[in-house]
Amino acid sequence: RPVHEWVLGDAARRGTKPAMVDVTSGRTVTYGELADLVRRLAAGLAAEGIGKGDVVALHSPNTILFPVVLYATTTVGGTVTTLSPLATPAEIAQQLIDSEARLMVSVSALIETARAAVGVVRRLTGRDVEIVLCDRADGHRCVLEMLDDGDVPAFELDPAADVAVLPYSSGTTGVPKGVMLTHRNLCTNLEQLNCLHRIDEDDRVIAILPFFHIFGLTALVNSALLRGATVYVHARFDLDAFLTSLERDRITHAYVAPPVMLALAKHPAVGSLDLSQLRRVICAAAPLDAGVQAAVADRLGVEVGQAYGMTELSPASHIHADGNRDEPVACVGHLLPSTQARLVDPDTGQDVAVGEPGEVWVRGPQVMKGYFGRPEDTDATVDAEGWLHTGDIGRVDDDGNWFIVDRVKELIKYKGYQVAPAELEAILVRHPGIADAAVIGVSDDEGNEIPKAFVVPMTGVPISAAEVMAHVEGQVAPYKRIRRVEFIEAVPKAASGKILRRRLRERERARP
Ligand code: ATP
Ligand code: MG
Repeated sequence: RPVHEWVLGDAARRGTKPAMVDVTSGRTVTYGELADLVRRLAAGLAAEGIGKGDVVALHSPNTILFPVVLYATTTVGGTVTTLSPLATPAEIAQQLIDSEARLMVSVSALIETARAAVGVVRRLTGRDVEIVLCDRADGHRCVLEMLDDGDVPAFELDPAADVAVLPYSSGTTGVPKGVMLTHRNLCTNLEQLNCLHRIDEDDRVIAILPFFHIFGLTALVNSALLRGATVYVHARFDLDAFLTSLERDRITHAYVAPPVMLALAKHPAVGSLDLSQLRRVICAAAPLDAGVQAAVADRLGVEVGQAYGMTELSPASHIHADGNRDEPVACVGHLLPSTQARLVDPDTGQDVAVGEPGEVWVRGPQVMKGYFGRPEDTDATVDAEGWLHTGDIGRVDDDGNWFIVDRVKELIKYKGYQVAPAELEAILVRHPGIADAAVIGVSDDEGNEIPKAFVVPMTGVPISAAEVMAHVEGQVAPYKRIRRVEFIEAVPKAASGKILRRRLRERERARP
């Protein structure tokens, strides 16, 4: 079945149950209203000639209308490409051109950026992309003005071949790539996740992860709405608003990325909240330190687990199983059903010995159809037997618990040894005087690659480079020692919560 039917199949029956609540305005949309809006916007899009194969770009922070635009577009056979609200006009223009988007749905708060992006597209291609808004601003139509009571003309849809969403990979390691996810990719991943991690009609889910990224799209939009939960929508991440909402809205499930875990582990206000309704916190998107994970579980008194995946996996291949307190901290849980995984030596393509780390290769129905317009990249990532080469190093213990070490490309090669930056970052942030940290490999005078730490000190707590190095030295093998330290104000991170080590490397190269 197509994804909108899969997710909204029970929406009409759920009627007046709140589907989404905008925490800033208090506005609520019920399941009945959601289904109705989707049907009428789909008719409106069809009336404008948007249909099978057309791409609609969605450029918006988290809003109630996000799923409406998403499912209305797939209802007419179209594809949604999601844009980061933090993207620059040039980045947006790039994605609008690359994805061949016909229409752009934005919000008035981002209108200047959206107009500039469309201007770049016109200059480069001569093509006009119309902007419609989720709210109102002069000179633009609002999507609500497009609602129509007509019918959507019939068309053939092949859930296994037709692309429902075209999210772009985060661009952590290079240029973001358009990832073609079919209706079947999305629906199977929802079912797979539901086997190990259930949410139901009584759940209240907090939405601070961005909907435009596949993690938020699947966990917060598709999964929560499929199960009949209520989603508390935060347009942007604000720590105080997040903590207030956790308590006031009696949130049962929170999906977060590592920076939020760090705040939960360290922020003084966390201890005084009544979070008796909270059942689970799931963290994904980047490596998470075991100490931070344990501290959050302890402070909140809830189960804290991890999931692992990537845009190319719709996004999940692993998740910490519900209620399994025996799983070791820092593992990303178990392999989802109908999913296979191997650990491979990236140099030889052979499976590594049992217990050894290797590159994670995944095969299953959630593996993307391919990168849009990039057949060579697709062939380099998904091999002829259907194995997706993730580019991440992992290991698995005797009980089937999986661990992600770091990305293959980011390992620092020090005199023949391999050092994972994530391991050193984890040790660094355990120091009470360190608020945040990132590690990259830099070359020393003899041409060796050595680990260098970029450290954000806790405000008001002076810490020296020597102290930083000594803190790590006591906890790692000699070859892993931090050999250079630089203090910075903030670690560069992507909207999805990943450390952008690429930016630090560029900064290093730009040094005289
Ligand atoms: P690009 O592919 O454009 O460089 P990206 O890989 O960061 O960007 P995403 O698809 O958003 O784009 O992220 C997937 C990556 O996130 C994985 O390959 C992995 O490195 C990381 N990741 C996701 N979950 C976890 C986790 N639980 N632990 C460690 N790393 C994770
Ligand atoms: Mg990637």
